Amino acid sequence: MGLTSNAAVLAGAGALGAGNGQGELAAHVAETMAGLTRSFDRAYFLDCWRAHRFEDELWLKMGELGLHGVGVPEAQGGMGGGLTEMVLIMDLLSQAGLPSFLYALTCFSRTPIVRHGTPQQIERYLRPTLSGQQKICFAITEPDAGTNTFRIATRAERRHGGWRINGQKVFISAADHADLMMVIARTRPYTPGENRKDGISVFVIDAKHPGVELKPLNIELYSPEKQFQVFLSDVDVDDGALIGPEGQGLETLFDALNPERLLISAICVGLGDYALGKTIDYVNRRAPFGKPIGSYQGVQHGLARAKAHIDAARLMAYHAAHVFDGGGRAGAAANTAKLLASEAGVEAVDACIQYHGGYGFDADYDVITLWPMVRLCRTAPLNNEMVLNYIGEHVLQLPKSY
Ligand SMILES: Cc1cc2nc3c(=O)[nH]c(=O)nc-3n(C[C@H](O)[C@H](O)[C@H](O)COP(=O)(O)OP(=O)(O)OC[C@H]3O[C@@H](n4cnc5c(N)ncnc54)[C@H](O)[C@@H]3O)c2cc1C
Repeated sequence: MGLTSNAAVLAGAGALGAGNGQGELAAHVAETMAGLTRSFDRAYFLDCWRAHRFEDELWLKMGELGLHGVGVPEAQGGMGGGLTEMVLIMDLLSQAGLPSFLYALTCFSRTPIVRHGTPQQIERYLRPTLSGQQKICFAITEPDAGTNTFRIATRAERRHGGWRINGQKVFISAADHADLMMVIARTRPYTPGENRKDGISVFVIDAKHPGVELKPLNIELYSPEKQFQVFLSDVDVDDGALIGPEGQGLETLFDALNPERLLISAICVGLGDYALGKTIDYVNRRAPFGKPIGSYQGVQHGLARAKAHIDAARLMAYHAAHVFDGGGRAGAAANTAKLLASEAGVEAVDACIQYHGGYGFDADYDVITLWPMVRLCRTAPLNNEMVLNYIGEHVLQLPKSY
């Protein structure tokens, strides 16, 4: 692990936990994670990436330790806690250089099931994730609609007491390793002039259904999890696959999208701290002019500024998670956290590259290898322009600009 910012994280999570009576769980999670990340490190993650294989051992160990059940109410078979504790796990995984996409994907995809699922759906889709037995990926983005989710063309049509889904998705992370796929589809086509929100529905499908075809994309994040184009051809599902109300799935959807923004924020601040930790080790040793470069203010200021921005973004992320867990409207805080965390992560990794000099570009130093993932977070899951649009419109009450 890089910097000793666990104390700051715990203080943040503890303070937030105290509000929802979950401070003890957050402390337990942090202790369990400290043990886990002593056994699994960045070298393990990169070995999985090199071998093109999923991080099975890490995932199974998390299951043994009960970590997959954290964030789900005990009444539904989980360990209790909420988004706050899942963000904590994601943060601590990332601080150790293990930013598992499928952990984030499974957590935010199942949150709408926790909140809107029927008892049968809880049993069928949620419970198998609690031991880690099943993983969920998330499919909203489409080639033509891009950022404009309202324009998605994937259709779910009524068929024989269930639904038949046809369409195409793109950039779907870890679709090959997932057992289930949360698919956002239209049960009524988009019609200009009508309310664009009408017709959006949320489904869970079997990711191994014969009608699901995956085509890998050539995206390099130095992560074991890859991205895919997904073709959905006559994917028949029963009525139980529809989560929340038909055609009015926007609220259901946002119970995945706000957690997504915060789990991605956790990757940014955690990985940012990992990068700073590496850099501190390096600048304390590297001395081309006789004194370690870490003793120069020019270097210290860059690292100190990045650290300040990371910790501020982290607090915002835990605050937003706390709002979400309390049942409040988390959109403003979640978007703000995502903006700050993605900028802070980029700043930290950029400083890491800069102060490693030429070695920053040698993949064997695992510095340049951090760049694609943090830089991605300014673009995905929602680009920062759209995040700023949200703040402009919903926080500052300015007119919608697009
Ligand atoms: C590595 C990776 C993993 C991903 N994983 C998933 C996943 O698991 N599931 C999933 O569903 N999707 C996933 N995505 C998709 C990701 O969420 C989209 O790429 C992202 O939402 C942007 O969509 P687009 O690429 O079509 O960009 P476009 O919509 O074409 O936008 C391009 C750019 O235009 C600008 N822009 C667009 N609209 C506006 C506006 N209204 N105002 C101002 N500027 C604007 C922004 O700078 C934006 O980046 C992933 C993407 C990547 C690269």
